Amino acid sequence: MSLRCAGDIDTRSLEEMFINLDPIQAGGRLTSEAMKAVIAYADGYSVCDNCQKPARLDAISKPPLATFHKDLAAFVEMDEARLMPGARRGFQAVASSFVNPGDPVLVTSYCHYTTFVAVEVAGGVVYEIAASPDHYSTPDMVAERIEEVIAKTKRTPALLFLEEVDYQYGNVHPVKEMAAVAHQYDIPVLYNGAYTVGIKEVSGADFGVDFVVGSGHKSMAAPAPSGFLATRAEYADVVFRTSKVHGDLTGRNFPVKEVELLGCTLMGNTSVGMMASFPHVKERVKHFDKEVARANKIIDALLSIEGMEVVSEYPRKHTLTRMNSEKCFDPIAKKHKKRGFFLISALRERHVTGIIPGSTKVWKMNSFGLTDRQADWVADAFLEIAEAEGLHVNR
Ligand SMILES: *Cc1c(COP(=O)(O)O)cnc(C)c1O
Repeated sequence: MSLRCAGDIDTRSLEEMFINLDPIQAGGRLTSEAMKAVIAYADGYSVCDNCQKPARLDAISKPPLATFHKDLAAFVEMDEARLMPGARRGFQAVASSFVNPGDPVLVTSYCHYTTFVAVEVAGGVVYEIAASPDHYSTPDMVAERIEEVIAKTKRTPALLFLEEVDYQYGNVHPVKEMAAVAHQYDIPVLYNGAYTVGIKEVSGADFGVDFVVGSGHKSMAAPAPSGFLATRAEYADVVFRTSKVHGDLTGRNFPVKEVELLGCTLMGNTSVGMMASFPHVKERVKHFDKEVARANKIIDALLSIEGMEVVSEYPRKHTLTRMNSEKCFDPIAKKHKKRGFFLISALRERHVTGIIPGSTKVWKMNSFGLTDRQADWVADAFLEIAEAEGLHVNR
């Protein structure tokens, strides 16, 4: 019998019981500081106890949300930041501010579905930038696509969305160079930091981008839904514009409320949880090289299994990696009584989880946040499983 929170809701102990390699969960695990803050601020509008004029989340000084907003902007070297319920809401705010119905919008071949949907909500038309056979977006391809879109639609794209690290391969793309191309056409550039902000050092100023979006629950050790949107001063008045509407009967108006944020966003444990983890997050990005070294150690071990291939760029420059085990684990799955589930099942017996259950061909893992010992454990688990199934391992 398992413990219950209430009714049919089980307690969750996955992070305590397993080493979790789930790509989307690695950077979002809470710090113990955030856990405490989340409990203290669990109630609804808990950060509003000391809300004064101007009545807005980014002006609250107790808890220190006003300072946190400034710190976030500085963290990614941009001018202004606002908390958002997820990176996607940052995309939406920017798309809604810059994209008119029918406007072409440029995205990469690796953009996340939330990019598509954010453009769709604004009525924009998605144009994808082709990728190279070795899975990179390049400045040349940005230039080519801009020219094509202008020739075809007679309109300059309203916006360009870029990922420094994509979610499919975890490859590092030349965002600075791509942004520079877009700026030659005066196209504003949004840097999607869902897999980078809170993981590695990010400077929006260095990249020369107009917006930086981060995901709290993916990469900043924060509860969901959380994240932020940062911008250069030039666009702050556009994307963070305030309400201009007057009630036709009462004449009421709300001139301090920011339209794209619908006034306030993270009013309780999301903002406070994110803020409580922030000192740790600011520190951890300085040690990303160690995370990458650990990832390479695990991937090297995996590659010692005969037939194993890494689909991502290699050596790795990020902890999210796509593997192909079609020539080693997949033939075993075909004969195994557990079929494709043999791999996840064998991993779980060794207290490792997070690989897509049932998949023995192409799968992803993210080792971010593991200790050296845990990384060795993961590597050993894979090699043990391979050997137990009769695969050759070049130890
Ligand atoms: C996860 C992810 C998102 C969505 O982030 P949310 O914070 O959940 O909205 C957007 N883009 C990429 C590349 C992602 O990996």
